[in-house]
Amino acid sequence: MEPMTARHQWMELSRSAYAHNISFFRRLLGPRAALAVVVKANGYGHGLLETAGLARENGVGMLCVHTLDEALTLRGAGFTEPVLLLGPVPIARSGEAALSGAALVAYDEEQVAALERAAAATGRTVDIHLKVETGTHRQGVMPERLGALLDLLNRSPHLRLAALYSHFANIEDTTDPAYALGQLRRFREACAAVEQQGFTGFERHLASSAAAILFPETHFDRVRVGIAQYGLWPSKETRLSYLTRYGAGAEHLLRPVLCWKTRIVQIKDIPSGSFIGYGCTYQTTRTSRIAILPIGYSDGYDRQLSNSAHVLVKGQRAPVRGRVAMNLTAIDITDIPGVELEDEVVLLGRQGEQEVSADRLAEMAGTINYEILSRLAPHIPRIVVP
Ligand SMILES: *Cc1c(COP(=O)(O)O)cnc(C)c1O
Repeated sequence: MEPMTARHQWMELSRSAYAHNISFFRRLLGPRAALAVVVKANGYGHGLLETAGLARENGVGMLCVHTLDEALTLRGAGFTEPVLLLGPVPIARSGEAALSGAALVAYDEEQVAALERAAAATGRTVDIHLKVETGTHRQGVMPERLGALLDLLNRSPHLRLAALYSHFANIEDTTDPAYALGQLRRFREACAAVEQQGFTGFERHLASSAAAILFPETHFDRVRVGIAQYGLWPSKETRLSYLTRYGAGAEHLLRPVLCWKTRIVQIKDIPSGSFIGYGCTYQTTRTSRIAILPIGYSDGYDRQLSNSAHVLVKGQRAPVRGRVAMNLTAIDITDIPGVELEDEVVLLGRQGEQEVSADRLAEMAGTINYEILSRLAPHIPRIVVP
């Protein structure tokens, strides 16, 4: 690995924080339910291969991706763990998907027929995770088409029903579980219907992070944990529900894995009354010491953070001044003595006693922590640290 002194920005992934989060889920699940981790969207911005590597170190049994390319990247990098492809595969790439060895989601008869032809042509048997619609009304087979899809699977000797799954619509955004409980009931009904058609030996999985944390009755045979493996709560509501139910002491159950760092590339003193950045949206009200950072919205530092976020320098908070540009951002270090060229700056994560959380950046950018993380640009180097 190149020394980080030669970098203008990089991310550090904490191996111990990741292990801590996985062991939290192991305790939560007990021996009955298995763990799958969701590494789609470049491992929620943490890096696909870096996250998969951490998952492997912790003995996680299954990796969930969204695209065929992600599955192929994992295979190409030597990951032989079971991979579940959650997203759609172009029908023209069914053969490639069959050869990838990944388990594939099924929800549509035409798609399944194409997959059977492709699997037959390659001589492979492909594991299918049938996704049933329980109320999210996104990807998934409607209950009234389930029978027809199962008939088709019965007539598809190269496809094996490995699992039945579904996904909650309203579990992060509320403290009221009523809608989720309806989905749980419909999922159970679908499981029973599949058994009635004579299928056996298939797994059931339903829970993502929030359901896994809050509702043990959703664990079934496996849970699919995304955001929480990276040390973030799915939402304020999830955190609040957990704290209310299980009391204090829950604060440190999850530890953020990622720290995004950069270096100061210029320091200058500018007079009172100077404008900073595009659009002249900030004017200094005193003689100010400004530091320039070589990062911007093309790296995933949201433009909404203009004139609102702060970063950490020498363990102190320095406000962003003016607009975040494509590749450059200015911060105010007037009140932080002793800052030097190429000093390290934390954009997201901890430095000393201070923290800039993805939750806080999300609030300021008018979005959710998932988006802040998943839009961190793939070109930023990721390194795993102890
Ligand atoms: C993204 C995703 C998950 C993970 O959700 P988190 O809230 O990040 O835990 C689980 N299941 C499916 C089907 C998903 O698409």
